[in-house]
Amino acid sequence: MAQSLKKINKEGSIEARLRKIHLKMDRECLCDLRHSATQAVWGKGSPQAKIVFIGEAPGKKEDLQGEPFIGAAGKFLDEMLASVGLKREAVYITNVVKYRPPNNRDPLPQEVSDCWEWLRLEIECIQPKLIVTLGRHALHRFIPEAVISQEHGKLFRRDVPGLGEWNFYVLYHPAAALYNGGLRETLKQDFRRIPEITQAIRK
Ligand code: URA
Repeated sequence: MAQSLKKINKEGSIEARLRKIHLKMDRECLCDLRHSATQAVWGKGSPQAKIVFIGEAPGKKEDLQGEPFIGAAGKFLDEMLASVGLKREAVYITNVVKYRPPNNRDPLPQEVSDCWEWLRLEIECIQPKLIVTLGRHALHRFIPEAVISQEHGKLFRRDVPGLGEWNFYVLYHPAAALYNGGLRETLKQDFRRIPEITQAIRK
């Protein structure tokens, strides 16, 4: 397996490499949720994106249509992207867990861990300047000890085992903010700082 992934990483354009990763992981991912989900939801957007947004797991609509963040939370995410002059096609959007958990329950640690190789390869292929975590599940995958109510709106540079050193910007999840006015305003304010944060990063 290590050998074939090395081959994937060396060959072809970023687009082609990313597609190969999705095809391979779609076949090989061992997450149990694949048995209850309609399909895996691949990350979507520009393979050359400078910013990668990482959510929790697909919801009902995403599961049915096979695209990340296309329900109510996705609409809110689109609004926030527009507020900072970003188009969805210019960024890359994906999830920690690639299959819908039944009834949208929280993903289990085992499910996060079973989907990790897929996410790891996406990040390694795209090489974003900035990774934006949406919600505590995405945050905890990279910064396990972080408390989202304290760390939202902050930039971290972290060396993640198996992934290397990357820049992380912490946001609340758009779904959590949808029905909580206070959180919604906080998320919008934090989101508005993305251009300035991206500019400030040298890499
Ligand atoms: N919530 C997520 O975390 N991801 C999606 O793709 C949709 C909703």
